[in-house]
Amino acid sequence: MKTPTLSDDAFDSYREAGRIASRIRNAGAGLIRAGTFVLEIVESVEQMVTDSGAGLAFPLNLSINEDAAHDTASNGDERVLAAGDIVKLDLGVHLDGYIADTAVTIDLGDCPLLIEASSCALEAAIALVRPGATIGQIGGAIQQEIESRGFRPVANLTGHGLARYQIHTPPTIPNLWFQDGSALEEGMVFAIEPFASTGSGRVTEKQRIEIFQQVSTKPVRLPAARRILGVIRERRGMPFARRWIPEERQDFALSTLVSQGIVRAYPVLADIPGCFVSQHEHTLIVTADGCIVTTS
Ligand code: MN
Ligand code: MN
Repeated sequence: MKTPTLSDDAFDSYREAGRIASRIRNAGAGLIRAGTFVLEIVESVEQMVTDSGAGLAFPLNLSINEDAAHDTASNGDERVLAAGDIVKLDLGVHLDGYIADTAVTIDLGDCPLLIEASSCALEAAIALVRPGATIGQIGGAIQQEIESRGFRPVANLTGHGLARYQIHTPPTIPNLWFQDGSALEEGMVFAIEPFASTGSGRVTEKQRIEIFQQVSTKPVRLPAARRILGVIRERRGMPFARRWIPEERQDFALSTLVSQGIVRAYPVLADIPGCFVSQHEHTLIVTADGCIVTTS
């Protein structure tokens, strides 16, 4: 056994999902240039995942400037990247349900220190990961790297545990120091994702919603809503994009599913208008004497 709490199959699948995610994240970052359509980038990267034989653990997130997370392209999206944009590319790949979650920020403007802040915060956090390290210490390392460069860590976005077909499980890994005695254990799998902001350091929900997730299996009568549940069944509870489902009565059927508590909506999360947010993320497995970064 490679770790006492993960089967060898799970361990190997996490490693391979990580290698695929790393390669496609890097290829996707190379597509991010001023003048390119957001929809074109998102569709290209999602196609790379499909072509690799792996699955998408969630729609490709491409979140721009003050938007920190949970944006993706919509059908007919006409947005074009512009010089000056700070673009977060956040990719989730799974093999047989074993997930690799990784993100990088591409600077189309002139914010090298902001990019460095989230990148160095991630490296500092990873350096602490071993059995016995506390989650509060990891948050503290992230906060220190970001604040020492004059930015704010985003307080209400966190890293998270990963489990089979599940993107968010305990533990929660904050981007700030806090008094927490809970310690990491060998075999834990989780993502660390520092966000550095020139704004308030808190995100709020925008009106725009492009990402959803089925959270219950209650029966539903509306035929268009039943058709959506048919299309997303193969997601096994992992998030999906509005763009992935047939267009006929899509918006009404989706809001019906949300209001009945069957589907959860993930609005775009943004800091204050006009600010910039950077993010870096890796997935890792805690080992006996440290960790393996699956997405490095
Ligand atoms: Mn992510
Ligand atoms: Mn994540």
